[in-house]
Amino acid sequence: MSRDIRALVDLAALVHNAGVARAAAPRSRMLAVVKANAYGHGLIQVARTLAEQADGYAVSCLEEAIALRDAGLDKPILLLEGFFDAAELPLIERCRLDCAVHSAWQIDMLERYNAERPISVWLKVDSGMHRLGVRPEQTPACYQRLRECRSVAEHVRLMTHLAFADDRDDAYTRYQFAEFERATAGLPGERSVGNSAGVLAWPGSRTDWVRPGIMLYGASPFADGRPERPPLRPVMTLRSRLVAVRPCRKGERIGYAGRFECPEDMTVGVVAAGYGDGYPRHAPNGTPVLVDGRRTGIVGRVSMDMLCVDLRGIEHVAPGADVTLWGEGLPVEEIAAACGTISYELLCKLTQRVRFEYI
Ligand SMILES: *Cc1c(COP(=O)(O)O)cnc(C)c1O
Repeated sequence: MSRDIRALVDLAALVHNAGVARAAAPRSRMLAVVKANAYGHGLIQVARTLAEQADGYAVSCLEEAIALRDAGLDKPILLLEGFFDAAELPLIERCRLDCAVHSAWQIDMLERYNAERPISVWLKVDSGMHRLGVRPEQTPACYQRLRECRSVAEHVRLMTHLAFADDRDDAYTRYQFAEFERATAGLPGERSVGNSAGVLAWPGSRTDWVRPGIMLYGASPFADGRPERPPLRPVMTLRSRLVAVRPCRKGERIGYAGRFECPEDMTVGVVAAGYGDGYPRHAPNGTPVLVDGRRTGIVGRVSMDMLCVDLRGIEHVAPGADVTLWGEGLPVEEIAAACGTISYELLCKLTQRVRFEYI
């Protein structure tokens, strides 16, 4: 048996979650966010699976968009950060990509560009995230420039992004809605506000278009750990196997720097999974893991190729036993919370060494 770390990607779960998003925002069209290799799940497989349910896709760069076009996907594709350089415009035009416009310099470039077929743009408004976007007071003027620009298609759309997405009831989100309203009052274009958190918890964000990402992959955008209703189903399960089952004595210390000291004689399992696969190195002792479907915790530092698990109370396991690092039966959000990060980061950080299987 070779080293057996796998990401099992459950495409039926993906379809289910997209259905949850659609049902939550029934009057909105949906751009499925598939940036960063579909949050680590595989761009093309995910995009194809969602082809029926999504009205389009959102990605963060031209390379991702071209990969979708090359795979034959012909729905609208929105570049969430638009173009980074005027040299991208001919390809954007040729591939019929939609472009977010977040800064005046992009409008300057569009005005200097000579498109044969005008480009569809979404003016991004900074309603309070203070990352990308034009300021509310500049929005009408920017909108007007875009409408008058010969290289820009007739229907200019409007979008904004929520900053406090991980809180179901934060007044700041209401403030952002109001800022977006103020900025765009009287402008005719279609609106796009909601990300996953908006779709699930903020009716005000269910505008003409929504842009769910993480929920499609079955993870909650919220920090409170409350399950959704209807539940989301995890799409990715990260699986490996035990490579050794070892008796350890009281007082022995495990792995690099001996971070875990056996409080008694105990059995320790060694799993073929480490930070070289994308499992977080800073996972503390006790980070949950399933061995043969039974829940236990990791012990000692995660190394590049291996990590150790506490097998106390888990009888009859032998090398080769299945280990679930996250996914089915063990929400990735739990691992993320234990490691002080978010599911997004864990999902998109798996490395080349992990084998992907689509089921
Ligand atoms: C990534 C992203 C989304 C999706 O966010 P989720 O929290 O994953 O739903 C939506 N809009 C923009 C602009 C993004 O960058």
